[in-house]
Amino acid sequence: SPAAAGAGQPAFLQIRDIVKDFSGYKAVDHVSLDIAKGEIFALLGSSGCGKTTLLRMLAGFETPTSGRIILNGQDLAGLPPYERPLNMMFQSYALFPHLTVWENIAFGLQRDGWARDRVAERVEAMLKLTQLAKYAKRRPHQLSGGQQQRVALARSLAKQPQLLLLDEPLGALDKKLREQTQIELVNIIEQVGVTCVMVTHDQEEAMTMASRIAVMSEGRFLQVGHPSEIYETPATRFVADFIGNVNLMDGTLAVDEPDHVVIDCPDCRHYVGHGITGTEGMAVTVALRPEKIHIGRHAPSDAFNTARGTIKELSYFGGYTVYHVQLGSGAVLKVTLANTQRHRDDELTWGDEVWAHWSRSAHVVLTQ
Ligand code: ATP
Repeated sequence: SPAAAGAGQPAFLQIRDIVKDFSGYKAVDHVSLDIAKGEIFALLGSSGCGKTTLLRMLAGFETPTSGRIILNGQDLAGLPPYERPLNMMFQSYALFPHLTVWENIAFGLQRDGWARDRVAERVEAMLKLTQLAKYAKRRPHQLSGGQQQRVALARSLAKQPQLLLLDEPLGALDKKLREQTQIELVNIIEQVGVTCVMVTHDQEEAMTMASRIAVMSEGRFLQVGHPSEIYETPATRFVADFIGNVNLMDGTLAVDEPDHVVIDCPDCRHYVGHGITGTEGMAVTVALRPEKIHIGRHAPSDAFNTARGTIKELSYFGGYTVYHVQLGSGAVLKVTLANTQRHRDDELTWGDEVWAHWSRSAHVVLTQ
């Protein structure tokens, strides 16, 4: 993992047992994290989970109630925001409306007393990096949302901070532009090589942009990992549900063998081909991603990992179709089929009776 610093070397950014208590309410509750140099790390969670408070403590706008933050070997305790070797880009961008793009980027450098030609040189480099050279003389209101965002980024990077903090960086953009800008932003951040911590409530944004994600809830980290790790092996029901689409089925552990378990659910028996530790009779939840399920008209030969139902709804998305299959208990199974190899004559439609089937390695078994 990119987080693993060299042997014996402390991580570039160390967050150590941080607590933020707002008169008895722990907005951040004993959080620890190591971030490697050059990582793009996302704090992901729904509104109120404490992600912004954590970011603001990194920036120095909030003081931790307890715990330590160490950046490149330096304890940041007691350092005001402007003395920290970092920069924060706000969701609103906070551009100066009366200044041009060039002047916006130059502002911080001039305030720090940089020589004129050094300022010019850096601003030109930033304009080039963010592909804004031809907009240098415009004012923010003469730019698109995406361009404004790049100005804010250019300004944040001008002083070559050791750490870049992004607060909902794409929050002000519409969906289409967001997707395009996510990639641009990552390209720029990677070119510069700056370590980055971003806050977002948008799981797609976190998945696309980040090298690792911390899923936060109620001031704590529920899981930290690479996007695919969190998607494929969520640690808890909350994480499974929060990241992407998922079918969650409650059941009971019926058979517990060293190499497999059988889980009984109202609509099916799951044969899970990897051991989990538990006791027979224990309540568990099976998580199944919609794209790991197949549906067809014919009953599979295997008695396990199959369920019968009726197509109640389908939504065509071009490349794939999402089916809602109602099972015997009334529960609805979401199934995603790619449309790459679909034939007209086996097209499934509303009201069709189908068999759903999935492999022995498709499940994630959750006990919390
Ligand atoms: P959002 O995405 O809505 O900004 P968030 O996950 O970033 O949410 P925070 O802004 O970190 O959440 O807030 C976490 C909790 O701490 C919330 O319940 C919030 O009401 C509370 N909180 C934040 N700042 C303060 C403050 N200055 N005083 C008291 N409570 C606060």
